Amino acid sequence: MSRRWLFADQLGPHFLDDRRQPVLLVESKAVFRRRVFHRQKAHLVLSALRHRAAELGDQARYLRTETYAEALRTVREPVEVHHPTSRAALALVRRLDGVTVLPAKGFVTSLADFADWAGARRGALRMEAFYRFARQRHGVLVEGDEPVGGRWSLDTDNRQPPPKDATRLDVPPPPTPAEDDIDAEVRADLDRWEREGIRFVGRDGPRRFPATGKEAKARLRHFLKHRLPTFGPYEDAMLADDPWMAHSMLSSSFNLGLLDPLEAVRGAEQAYRKGQAPLPSAEGFIRQVLGWRDFVWHLYWYFEPAWRSSNALAARRRVPAWFRELDADAVTARCLADVLAGVRDHGWVHHIPRLMVLGNYALQRGWRPGELVDWFHHSFVDGYDWVMTANVIGMSQYADLGRMTTKPYVSGGAYVNRMSDYCGGCRYDPKQRLGDDACPFTAGYWAFLSRNRERIPGNARMARTMAQLGRLSDVDAVVDQERRRGDRAP
Ligand code: SF4
Repeated sequence: MSRRWLFADQLGPHFLDDRRQPVLLVESKAVFRRRVFHRQKAHLVLSALRHRAAELGDQARYLRTETYAEALRTVREPVEVHHPTSRAALALVRRLDGVTVLPAKGFVTSLADFADWAGARRGALRMEAFYRFARQRHGVLVEGDEPVGGRWSLDTDNRQPPPKDATRLDVPPPPTPAEDDIDAEVRADLDRWEREGIRFVGRDGPRRFPATGKEAKARLRHFLKHRLPTFGPYEDAMLADDPWMAHSMLSSSFNLGLLDPLEAVRGAEQAYRKGQAPLPSAEGFIRQVLGWRDFVWHLYWYFEPAWRSSNALAARRRVPAWFRELDADAVTARCLADVLAGVRDHGWVHHIPRLMVLGNYALQRGWRPGELVDWFHHSFVDGYDWVMTANVIGMSQYADLGRMTTKPYVSGGAYVNRMSDYCGGCRYDPKQRLGDDACPFTAGYWAFLSRNRERIPGNARMARTMAQLGRLSDVDAVVDQERRRGDRAP
């Protein structure tokens, strides 16, 4: 039997054919030398890899080397590996002698099924259509070919602002994993690597995310029972004192391969069918996992490699150091300071702070999309090249002019004001675009639209906004103010 090489994001039992199959695990130090990762992300990845080695015992060979190629040179038997998750890793395994590449795992829809679906479509690829296909293909929340409840999307029942006057949602927090000797060893190694000159960003802290299949399953069970019912309505809401809201916080577990996404999808469906969760919550969660997660994975492989370098809005400014280094203390704007502090302290914030605070701010300022892909990849516990290419290039930075979205995800302070409790305690005013109190998001919004009015393709969803822009008498002053603000922390 060939030895199955498992990358650090292929750690669950579903990446093995047989429970006794010989396994190869490689810890490459060069990965951490080449890029500046969040300290807690480096901890999570190493902890998960070493926990898997401990679980497998004699069944696994665990090699600590500088590079993967160096490790593979010491292995004399045939090796097979499931299709890796980045283009660079795929090129590497294809180059190595004696390594057989097997189909991808860890996603619900196969690459072949996606290619068939996408190939048969005319026009742009949209998540909504893919999600419908995946629900039917895998028989999720359907009766015959029709959606349970009569609608494919219950987004309009979700997306609510936070409950009035609440500072936290009324849900128990996700269980925190207990650290053990393996975590202590990882922490000591990372401290030593830092002394040797390997750089990390963010703060160290107790490990908050699952590093084993057992921990991930426990978190899934807890989520389905206690948090899923509240998840749907408030999935897009933000509260300054509640960083987790009712999110599952399972994205890193899916992306490390600890948890089979189909198991989570079926679990959410069951929770609805047993009357333990309302349909909009179950549908909202299933949409994120079966829909969005799979969709961005498939686009990464379906589109040409050059997609990652798209920069159709000519965004040429470097990502400034205060943002890159997570210097939240340098920021006055309350929403941005809080979200950046969340990344610094946990390596995680949920999808709306990523898209509508961090991504929105970067889009308005014209920061380089490629640098942002790297930043999101390295700074988030669940970040990988495949996730962030689509989320940053296609969605948040609109760098491909809408190959996966219908319009740029850009908004002023009104959105943050509606969906959070940030603005009340901020020194800026979300309604102002000009002057000392001007909200940087509101001013940035109009400056962005003005700068890109010729580049953004005319479409019905942008028509009203562009007409409004044309009627603003002070837009030149706003543009000038934003030019003077430059890339200083707001
Ligand atoms: Fe953020 Fe503007 Fe609201 Fe301040 S006023 S919290 S900067 S959106």
